[in-house]
Amino acid sequence: MSLAVAIPLLGPPAVGKSTLAIRLGAADGCAVFRLRAHVPPARLTATGSSAASPGWMDDVTVQAALDGYLDQTARAGAVRCVVFDNFPGTSAQVRLLLARLAVHAIGCVVVPIELSVDPVTLLRRAVQRRVCHRCERDPAHDPRLPAQPSPQNPQRCAQCGGVLHPRRGDAPSLRAARLRRYRREAVGVRDAFGAAGVEVIRCDGSADIAETVAGVSELVATRSARR
Ligand SMILES: [Zn+2]
Repeated sequence: MSLAVAIPLLGPPAVGKSTLAIRLGAADGCAVFRLRAHVPPARLTATGSSAASPGWMDDVTVQAALDGYLDQTARAGAVRCVVFDNFPGTSAQVRLLLARLAVHAIGCVVVPIELSVDPVTLLRRAVQRRVCHRCERDPAHDPRLPAQPSPQNPQRCAQCGGVLHPRRGDAPSLRAARLRRYRREAVGVRDAFGAAGVEVIRCDGSADIAETVAGVSELVATRSARR
């Protein structure tokens, strides 16, 4: 099996990208790429999440991470579809992704999905979402993945029982900076995909997650069958 479909998942902070990526990635032959997981820990702590350049990463580091991941995926041959959670984040990263896919996964169809919700829902999701420091051992102590609250005690993790925390980047000052950066970069990201003849599909993420998963899966299936 070779990598045939790449789904870059884009959208503002807290729109629900990781939740959707987890669900899509759970399908047979699917995997999720998260840049942080393929970057040396020292780099992560160096880039940090300062308000000035939240999570900024240089292109050399990004290319090394992508090459390592795509090479490993191609060799293993067990993955047909990769969901790129919150990647690419800049126009340079778009060009990098397309160039590296052309090397490691010839003929791979790229279906970028940009999720959006109304501003009130976006704020509510940012305020409500929680992460678990125990279940997600982030090298920079900045876990990102949505944790499931326990039905008995919503303050605690359903999986390990540990206390849940807000995401560091959801603190109001950081959140505003991340939202500004997203809006600034999103235009270049869409343009860079467009210049390569790849259409970014806008998708409403306000529906129930199961509905969103079904909608996106159908879109991707239609798009990849067209080739
Ligand atoms: Zn936990």
